[in-house]
Amino acid sequence: MYNIALIVMLALAIISFVYLQFITAPYGRHAKQNWGPNIANHWGWVLMESPAVLFFIVIYAMGTNALEIVPFVLLCLWQFHYIYRTFIFPFRLRSKTKKMPLAVCLSGFGFNCFNAFLNAYWIANLGNYSAEWLVSAKFILGCFIFFSGFYIHYHSDVMLMNLRKPGETGYKIPQGFLFRWFVSPNYLGEVIMWTGFTIASWSPAALVFTVFTIANLLPRSISHKRWYREKFPDFPKHRI
Ligand code: NDP
Repeated sequence: MYNIALIVMLALAIISFVYLQFITAPYGRHAKQNWGPNIANHWGWVLMESPAVLFFIVIYAMGTNALEIVPFVLLCLWQFHYIYRTFIFPFRLRSKTKKMPLAVCLSGFGFNCFNAFLNAYWIANLGNYSAEWLVSAKFILGCFIFFSGFYIHYHSDVMLMNLRKPGETGYKIPQGFLFRWFVSPNYLGEVIMWTGFTIASWSPAALVFTVFTIANLLPRSISHKRWYREKFPDFPKHRI
């Protein structure tokens, strides 16, 4: 059953990647009015991402290996990111007057339940980690990549949010840091981070999640680039 669930997740990644070539998820700058009822942006983020914190902990706590050191460290890595995404990031948004479609929020909520289950179940039940895993090359390299990715992701998110003064809702061209070369270094950092987590946990669930993240964020970054070039004729053409 677990392997089938992983294949379903992989299939969802492929379907999403194809779908997102035609439709850009309608939130943020790509928001549309015709996607049904809306929810306040920041509460939408909290609701959408909350299973990645709370449901993950529930599944983890029920696991047979929950009290072992390596699963616990992997739990901490996961929560390190998702506590930021769920309970800190939404309240730092400058555009709290904006809304997101409830449909986007609920589809993200469903995805996060599924993804939290797959990853927590692997870590707390199926992963076979001895305590020496913590000094293995894979774990150390994975952690280095994870925290490098988080730094890129977090710093880019903060730079983007700080482009606006409190109450502003418009857009500006981000400058500096990795924005010199990339349109969405926050997305790049996210992909690097989950790649690191995949190496540190050597988990098929983390691998499938990383593939899903690429399938989701690469088309969105391309949509962002197209959007910038339409709105800002002076947007640097060389940014990827
Ligand atoms: P964006 O980069 O589109 O926006 C991040 C924040 O910065 C938003 O508040 C946005 O405002 C603001 N912002 C962005 N660009 C500008 C600009 N040029 N001028 C002023 N303000 C700007 O990210 P998303 O909203 O798509 O995603 C937020 C985070 O969630 C990202 O870090 C992403 O990595 C992560 N994420 C992860 C996913 C995954 O599959 N793992 C899926 C989706 C997101 P506004 O909302 O008004 O546009």
